Amino acid sequence: MAEIRVENLRKAFGSFVAVEDSTFTVADGEFLALLGPSGCGKTTTLRMIAGLELPTSGTIRLAGEDVTFNRARERDIAFVFQLFALYPHMNVRKNIGFPLHAQGVPRAEIRRRVEETARLLQIDHILDRSVSGLAGGDRQRVALGRAIVRRPKCFLMDEPLGTLDAEFREFMVRELRELHNRIRATTVYVTHDQIEAMAMADKIAVMNHGVIEQFDTPQEIYNRPASMYVADFIGSPPMNFIRFTSGLARGTSVVRIGEAELAVPAVREEVAPGELALGVRPEHVRFSDASALRGAVYGSEYLGTNQIVTVETAGGLIRARLPADRRYGIGEPVGLSFNSERLSLFNCGSGRAIR
Ligand code: ATP
Repeated sequence: MAEIRVENLRKAFGSFVAVEDSTFTVADGEFLALLGPSGCGKTTTLRMIAGLELPTSGTIRLAGEDVTFNRARERDIAFVFQLFALYPHMNVRKNIGFPLHAQGVPRAEIRRRVEETARLLQIDHILDRSVSGLAGGDRQRVALGRAIVRRPKCFLMDEPLGTLDAEFREFMVRELRELHNRIRATTVYVTHDQIEAMAMADKIAVMNHGVIEQFDTPQEIYNRPASMYVADFIGSPPMNFIRFTSGLARGTSVVRIGEAELAVPAVREEVAPGELALGVRPEHVRFSDASALRGAVYGSEYLGTNQIVTVETAGGLIRARLPADRRYGIGEPVGLSFNSERLSLFNCGSGRAIR
C-alpha cells in the first residue's frame, strides 16, 4: 500500500505563495502528472512530498502514515531528477547496483536484485558490458534500472526527460509507461509537457500559480476542462474560445453570437449576464453550408495527415482541424458548424466552466 495523500498543502517563501492549499490523493499504483508552466509550483509540491522542503502548513501521508515532518531518507521513495547520468567507468551491473551498494546491502542480495531488475528491463544480456559502448536506448534502460532497483514505495520524478532530444523523449515516454504497467509503483511526475502527461499519466493535476485548477483523468481534462486556463493549456492547437455577452436562463440550449444561433449543451443553472465563451476543440469544428456561423479563411497550415484552417468570424478567429485533401484560399467564405455535445461553456470573469 503506497497511497500518497496531500491535504491543504501550502508553501510560502516569505510573502510569495508557491503552493496554495493543495489537496489530492494518488492511489496506490497510480501515475500522477503534475502539469503546468514554469514557476507554477510543481517542483515545490514534489519536493514537499519527497521531504526536501518543509510545508508552511498542511499534511502529507504516505501509505496512511503522516510523514509531513519526516526526513527524506525516512520516506520509502525514490526521487529521480536526472535519469541519464551514468557512471562511465562502471559496467552495467555496477551502475544498476550502485544505490544498493550505497545503502550497504549484502553482495549476494545486490546480485539477485540487479539481475531481477535487468530481466524486467530486458537488459540482462548486457550486464557485464561497459556502459560507454552502449546504444542510446540501452543506456536509458540502465539509468532506469538504477532508479528502480531499490523498489521504493513511490517514485517522484522531476522532468526526468527534460534534456533529451525529441526522438528519445518519445522512446522514453513509452518505456516509462510500460515500466509503470509492469511494476505499478505509485508515481508523481513533474512536467510542463502536456504530451508527456497525457501519454503516461492515469491522472493529471493542472497547476496555475500554485493552485491545482483541475485534477482528473487525461480524458476528462481534455474533453471537459474545468477552466479556460486548462482548456488553453491542453491540446495543440488549444481549444477555441468564441466570446459573447449574455445571460442564460436555466435549460437554455441555444446561444446567439452576432447573427448566428448555436446549439449548446443545456445550461443547468441560470447564468447572470456577463461575458461568456463557448469552447470548441479544433477537431470538433466542421465546414458546412448549413451552418449558422459564417466566416472567411484567414490562413491555413498543412500538416500532412490533416490541416489547421483559421477562420475569421463574428466570434473571433477559430481554428479547425480538417482533412488535408482540399485546400482553402485566403478570404474564401465558409460556414462553421460544431457538434453541440462537444462544446464547453465558460464564464470569462471567473474563467471557470459552466456545467
Ligand atoms: P519549474 O519548471 O520552472 O521548476 P515549477 O512549476 O516547478 O517550475 P517551482 O520550482 O515549484 O515551479 O517554483 C514555484 C515558485 O516558487 C517560483 O516562482 C519560484 O521562483 C519560487 N521558489 C521556488 N523555490 C524557492 C525558494 N527556495 N525561495 C524563494 N522562491 C522560491
